Amino acid sequence: MINRFEGKVALVTGANSGIGQASALAFAREGASVVLAARRLEQGEETVRLIEKTRGTATFIKTDVSNSAEVEALIRATVETYGRLDFALNNAGTSGNLAPAAEMSEEEWDSVIGTNLKGVWLCLKQEIAVMTRQGGGSIVNMSSVLGLLGTSLGASAYVASKHAIIGLTKAAALEYAGQGIRINAICPGYIKTALIEPATNNPDVKSQLIAAHPIGRLGNPEEVAEAVVWLCSDAASFVTGHSLVVDGGYTAQ
Ligand code: NDP
Repeated sequence: MINRFEGKVALVTGANSGIGQASALAFAREGASVVLAARRLEQGEETVRLIEKTRGTATFIKTDVSNSAEVEALIRATVETYGRLDFALNNAGTSGNLAPAAEMSEEEWDSVIGTNLKGVWLCLKQEIAVMTRQGGGSIVNMSSVLGLLGTSLGASAYVASKHAIIGLTKAAALEYAGQGIRINAICPGYIKTALIEPATNNPDVKSQLIAAHPIGRLGNPEEVAEAVVWLCSDAASFVTGHSLVVDGGYTAQ
Protein backbone atom coordinates (compact mmCIF):
# COMPACT_ATOMS: atom_id res chain seq x y z
CA MET A 1 0.00 0.00 0.00
CA ILE A 2 1.52 3.33 -1.07
CA ASN A 3 1.44 6.39 1.23
CA ARG A 4 0.02 4.59 4.26
CA PHE A 5 2.22 6.91 6.39
CA GLU A 6 0.89 10.14 4.79
CA GLY A 7 0.82 12.90 7.44
CA LYS A 8 3.00 10.85 9.79
CA VAL A 9 6.43 11.82 11.10
CA ALA A 10 9.28 9.33 11.52
CA LEU A 11 12.61 9.82 13.31
CA VAL A 12 15.59 7.66 12.37
CA THR A 13 18.84 7.82 14.33
CA GLY A 14 21.99 6.61 12.61
CA ALA A 15 20.38 7.57 9.31
CA ASN A 16 23.64 8.44 7.54
CA SER A 17 24.29 4.99 6.11
CA GLY A 18 23.39 1.32 6.14
CA ILE A 19 20.21 0.16 7.87
CA GLY A 20 19.26 3.65 9.10
CA GLN A 21 19.52 5.20 5.64
CA ALA A 22 17.53 2.35 4.05
CA SER A 23 14.86 2.71 6.74
CA ALA A 24 14.66 6.49 6.26
CA LEU A 25 14.11 5.94 2.53
CA ALA A 26 11.45 3.30 3.28
CA PHE A 27 9.57 5.63 5.68
CA ALA A 28 9.68 8.38 3.03
CA ARG A 29 8.44 5.96 0.33
CA GLU A 30 5.43 5.23 2.56
CA GLY A 31 4.67 8.96 2.74
CA ALA A 32 6.09 9.93 6.15
CA SER A 33 8.12 13.09 6.74
CA VAL A 34 11.46 11.88 8.05
CA VAL A 35 13.87 13.38 10.57
CA LEU A 36 17.39 12.03 10.15
CA ALA A 37 19.86 12.10 13.03
CA ALA A 38 23.57 11.24 13.07
CA ARG A 39 26.89 13.03 13.61
CA ARG A 40 28.31 13.69 10.11
CA LEU A 41 26.59 16.66 8.45
CA GLU A 42 27.60 15.99 4.82
CA GLN A 43 26.38 12.40 4.88
CA GLY A 44 23.13 13.55 6.48
CA GLU A 45 22.58 16.13 3.76
CA GLU A 46 23.25 13.43 1.15
CA THR A 47 20.47 11.25 2.62
CA VAL A 48 18.11 14.25 2.59
CA ARG A 49 18.93 14.69 -1.14
CA LEU A 50 18.27 10.98 -1.79
CA ILE A 51 14.86 11.27 -0.14
CA GLU A 52 14.00 14.52 -1.93
CA LYS A 53 14.88 12.88 -5.28
CA THR A 54 12.05 10.44 -4.61
CA ARG A 55 9.74 13.40 -3.77
CA GLY A 56 9.95 12.63 -0.08
CA THR A 57 10.32 15.13 2.78
CA ALA A 58 13.28 14.97 5.16
CA THR A 59 15.36 17.08 7.53
CA PHE A 60 18.78 16.24 8.95
CA ILE A 61 19.59 17.22 12.53
CA LYS A 62 23.19 16.68 13.57
CA THR A 63 23.05 14.68 16.79
CA ASP A 64 25.27 12.51 18.94
CA VAL A 65 22.78 10.13 20.57
CA SER A 66 25.03 9.57 23.58
CA ASN A 67 24.62 13.27 24.54
CA SER A 68 21.38 14.00 26.43
CA ALA A 69 21.29 17.72 25.55
CA GLU A 70 21.68 16.92 21.84
CA VAL A 71 18.93 14.28 22.01
CA GLU A 72 16.60 16.75 23.75
CA ALA A 73 17.37 19.32 21.03
CA LEU A 74 16.70 16.68 18.34
CA ILE A 75 13.23 15.86 19.64
CA ARG A 76 12.43 19.55 20.18
CA ALA A 77 13.47 20.35 16.60
CA THR A 78 11.45 17.40 15.28
CA VAL A 79 8.27 18.65 16.91
CA GLU A 80 9.00 22.28 15.94
CA THR A 81 9.55 21.28 12.30
CA TYR A 82 6.78 18.73 11.74
CA GLY A 83 4.44 19.20 14.71
CA ARG A 84 4.43 15.59 15.94
CA LEU A 85 6.31 12.28 16.16
CA ASP A 86 4.61 9.02 15.17
CA PHE A 87 7.47 6.59 14.59
CA ALA A 88 11.03 6.33 15.88
CA LEU A 89 13.83 3.99 14.87
CA ASN A 90 16.58 4.07 17.49
CA ASN A 91 19.25 2.63 15.25
CA ALA A 92 22.50 4.58 15.80
CA GLY A 93 25.17 2.12 16.84
CA THR A 94 28.84 1.26 16.77
CA SER A 95 30.78 -1.98 16.99
CA GLY A 96 33.72 -0.20 18.66
CA ASN A 97 37.23 -1.58 18.26
CA LEU A 98 37.19 -5.34 18.56
CA ALA A 99 39.15 -6.78 21.51
CA PRO A 100 38.64 -9.65 23.97
CA ALA A 101 36.80 -8.60 27.15
CA ALA A 102 39.88 -8.55 29.38
CA GLU A 103 41.82 -6.41 26.91
CA MET A 104 39.14 -3.78 26.32
CA SER A 105 39.82 -0.33 27.78
CA GLU A 106 37.30 1.38 30.07
CA GLU A 107 37.07 4.22 27.54
CA GLU A 108 36.14 1.80 24.76
CA TRP A 109 33.52 0.09 26.96
CA ASP A 110 31.95 3.45 27.87
CA SER A 111 31.93 4.57 24.25
CA VAL A 112 30.10 1.46 22.94
CA ILE A 113 27.63 1.35 25.84
CA GLY A 114 27.17 5.15 25.64
CA THR A 115 26.05 5.05 22.01
CA ASN A 116 24.36 1.65 21.74
CA LEU A 117 22.55 1.45 25.08
CA LYS A 118 22.46 4.85 26.77
CA GLY A 119 21.81 6.45 23.38
CA VAL A 120 18.75 4.26 22.82
CA TRP A 121 17.43 5.04 26.30
CA LEU A 122 18.00 8.81 25.91
CA CYS A 123 16.05 8.78 22.63
CA LEU A 124 13.33 6.53 24.02
CA LYS A 125 12.82 8.87 26.95
CA GLN A 126 12.25 11.94 24.78
CA GLU A 127 10.21 10.06 22.17
CA ILE A 128 7.89 8.57 24.79
CA ALA A 129 7.29 12.03 26.29
CA VAL A 130 6.04 13.33 22.92
CA MET A 131 4.06 10.19 22.09
CA THR A 132 2.38 10.15 25.51
CA ARG A 133 1.18 13.72 24.94
CA GLN A 134 -0.04 12.79 21.46
CA GLY A 135 -1.79 9.62 22.62
CA GLY A 136 0.36 7.03 20.84
CA GLY A 137 3.20 6.04 18.55
CA SER A 138 5.49 3.19 17.61
CA ILE A 139 9.16 2.80 18.48
CA VAL A 140 11.69 0.30 17.13
CA ASN A 141 15.05 -0.25 18.83
CA MET A 142 17.91 -1.78 16.86
CA SER A 143 19.31 -4.83 18.60
CA SER A 144 21.06 -7.68 16.73
CA VAL A 145 21.38 -11.44 16.62
CA LEU A 146 24.19 -10.52 19.01
CA GLY A 147 21.42 -9.42 21.37
CA LEU A 148 20.38 -13.07 21.55
CA LEU A 149 23.69 -14.94 21.15
CA GLY A 150 27.35 -14.30 21.91
CA THR A 151 30.35 -14.25 19.58
CA SER A 152 34.06 -14.89 20.11
CA LEU A 153 34.98 -12.05 17.72
CA GLY A 154 35.95 -9.60 20.51
CA ALA A 155 32.71 -7.65 20.78
CA SER A 156 31.65 -8.16 24.40
CA ALA A 157 30.58 -4.54 24.98
CA TYR A 158 28.58 -4.64 21.74
CA VAL A 159 26.99 -7.99 22.67
CA ALA A 160 26.16 -6.67 26.17
CA SER A 161 24.61 -3.51 24.73
CA LYS A 162 22.48 -5.43 22.23
CA HIS A 163 21.24 -7.90 24.88
CA ALA A 164 20.37 -4.93 27.11
CA ILE A 165 18.37 -3.28 24.33
CA ILE A 166 16.06 -6.32 24.30
CA GLY A 167 15.48 -5.98 28.05
CA LEU A 168 14.95 -2.24 27.80
CA THR A 169 12.49 -2.80 24.95
CA LYS A 170 10.43 -5.33 26.96
CA ALA A 171 10.33 -3.19 30.11
CA ALA A 172 9.44 0.04 28.32
CA ALA A 173 6.85 -1.76 26.16
CA LEU A 174 5.06 -2.95 29.31
CA GLU A 175 5.25 0.47 30.96
CA TYR A 176 3.62 2.24 27.99
CA ALA A 177 1.39 -0.48 26.46
CA GLY A 178 -1.68 1.15 28.02
CA GLN A 179 -0.88 4.52 26.45
CA GLY A 180 -0.98 3.53 22.81
CA ILE A 181 2.80 3.32 22.43
CA ARG A 182 4.19 0.10 20.93
CA ILE A 183 7.89 -0.59 21.50
CA ASN A 184 9.70 -3.41 19.70
CA ALA A 185 13.22 -4.44 18.75
CA ILE A 186 14.75 -5.88 15.60
CA CYS A 187 17.60 -8.40 15.65
CA PRO A 188 19.27 -8.43 12.24
CA GLY A 189 21.79 -11.04 11.20
CA TYR A 190 24.96 -9.75 9.50
CA ILE A 191 23.96 -7.02 7.06
CA LYS A 192 26.19 -5.56 4.32
CA THR A 193 27.03 -2.13 5.77
CA ALA A 194 30.10 -0.13 6.82
CA LEU A 195 29.73 -1.55 10.34
CA ILE A 196 30.86 -5.03 9.35
CA GLU A 197 33.42 -4.03 6.69
CA PRO A 198 36.40 -4.41 9.05
CA ALA A 199 35.35 -8.06 9.45
CA THR A 200 34.22 -8.80 5.87
CA ASN A 201 37.38 -7.26 4.38
CA ASN A 202 39.02 -10.50 5.53
CA PRO A 203 37.84 -13.13 2.98
CA ASP A 204 38.07 -15.99 5.53
CA VAL A 205 35.94 -14.15 8.08
CA LYS A 206 33.49 -13.17 5.33
CA SER A 207 33.08 -16.83 4.27
CA GLN A 208 32.52 -17.86 7.91
CA LEU A 209 29.88 -15.16 8.35
CA ILE A 210 28.07 -16.15 5.14
CA ALA A 211 28.17 -19.81 6.20
CA ALA A 212 26.52 -18.86 9.52
CA HIS A 213 23.40 -17.73 7.63
CA PRO A 214 21.45 -20.76 6.31
CA ILE A 215 20.02 -18.61 3.50
CA GLY A 216 23.60 -18.57 2.17
CA ARG A 217 24.37 -14.84 2.06
CA LEU A 218 24.58 -11.72 4.18
CA GLY A 219 21.52 -9.48 4.45
CA ASN A 220 20.81 -6.18 2.71
CA PRO A 221 19.85 -3.02 4.64
CA GLU A 222 16.56 -2.84 2.72
CA GLU A 223 15.52 -6.23 4.11
CA VAL A 224 15.76 -4.83 7.65
CA ALA A 225 14.04 -1.58 6.63
CA GLU A 226 10.95 -3.53 5.53
CA ALA A 227 10.67 -5.06 9.01
CA VAL A 228 11.01 -1.59 10.58
CA VAL A 229 8.19 -0.23 8.43
CA TRP A 230 5.99 -3.24 9.20
CA LEU A 231 6.52 -2.92 12.98
CA CYS A 232 5.59 0.77 12.82
CA SER A 233 2.53 0.20 10.64
CA ASP A 234 -1.00 -0.61 11.77
CA ALA A 235 -0.42 -4.10 10.33
CA ALA A 236 1.54 -4.72 13.55
CA SER A 237 -1.06 -3.11 15.84
CA PHE A 238 -1.04 -6.03 18.35
CA VAL A 239 2.77 -6.40 18.44
CA THR A 240 4.69 -4.90 21.36
CA GLY A 241 7.66 -5.90 23.52
CA HIS A 242 8.78 -8.22 20.71
CA SER A 243 12.26 -8.78 19.31
CA LEU A 244 11.97 -9.70 15.64
CA VAL A 245 14.84 -11.61 14.02
CA VAL A 246 15.65 -10.71 10.42
CA ASP A 247 18.61 -13.00 10.10
CA GLY A 248 18.48 -15.50 7.22
CA GLY A 249 18.06 -18.31 9.74
CA TYR A 250 21.15 -17.44 11.86
CA THR A 251 19.38 -17.96 15.21
CA ALA A 252 17.21 -20.91 14.09
CA GLN A 253 20.21 -23.27 14.25
P1 NDP B 1 26.53 1.89 9.80
O1 NDP B 1 27.90 2.04 10.34
O2 NDP B 1 26.32 1.96 8.32
O3 NDP B 1 25.54 2.92 10.48
C1 NDP B 1 25.69 3.41 11.76
C2 NDP B 1 25.03 4.76 11.80
O4 NDP B 1 25.00 5.25 13.14
C3 NDP B 1 25.72 5.82 10.96
O5 NDP B 1 24.71 6.56 10.30
C4 NDP B 1 26.43 6.69 11.98
O6 NDP B 1 26.55 7.99 11.44
C5 NDP B 1 25.49 6.59 13.16
N1 NDP B 1 26.08 6.79 14.48
C6 NDP B 1 27.10 6.10 15.05
N2 NDP B 1 27.35 6.58 16.28
C7 NDP B 1 26.45 7.59 16.50
C8 NDP B 1 26.21 8.47 17.58
N3 NDP B 1 26.94 8.43 18.71
N4 NDP B 1 25.22 9.37 17.45
C9 NDP B 1 24.47 9.42 16.33
N5 NDP B 1 24.66 8.62 15.27
C10 NDP B 1 25.64 7.71 15.37
O7 NDP B 1 26.04 0.49 10.35
P2 NDP B 1 24.66 -0.32 10.28
O8 NDP B 1 23.69 0.31 9.39
O9 NDP B 1 25.04 -1.71 10.08
O10 NDP B 1 24.20 -0.18 11.80
C11 NDP B 1 22.95 0.35 12.20
C12 NDP B 1 22.50 -0.38 13.43
O11 NDP B 1 22.25 -1.75 13.12
C13 NDP B 1 23.51 -0.40 14.58
O12 NDP B 1 22.84 -0.24 15.81
C14 NDP B 1 24.08 -1.81 14.50
O13 NDP B 1 24.58 -2.24 15.74
C15 NDP B 1 22.86 -2.57 14.06
N6 NDP B 1 23.14 -3.87 13.47
C16 NDP B 1 23.93 -3.99 12.36
C17 NDP B 1 24.20 -5.23 11.84
C18 NDP B 1 25.08 -5.44 10.65
O14 NDP B 1 25.47 -6.58 10.38
N7 NDP B 1 25.41 -4.40 9.87
C19 NDP B 1 23.65 -6.45 12.44
C20 NDP B 1 22.80 -6.21 13.58
C21 NDP B 1 22.57 -4.96 14.08
P3 NDP B 1 27.62 9.06 11.98
O15 NDP B 1 28.93 8.34 12.05
O16 NDP B 1 27.58 10.15 10.98
O17 NDP B 1 27.12 9.51 13.32
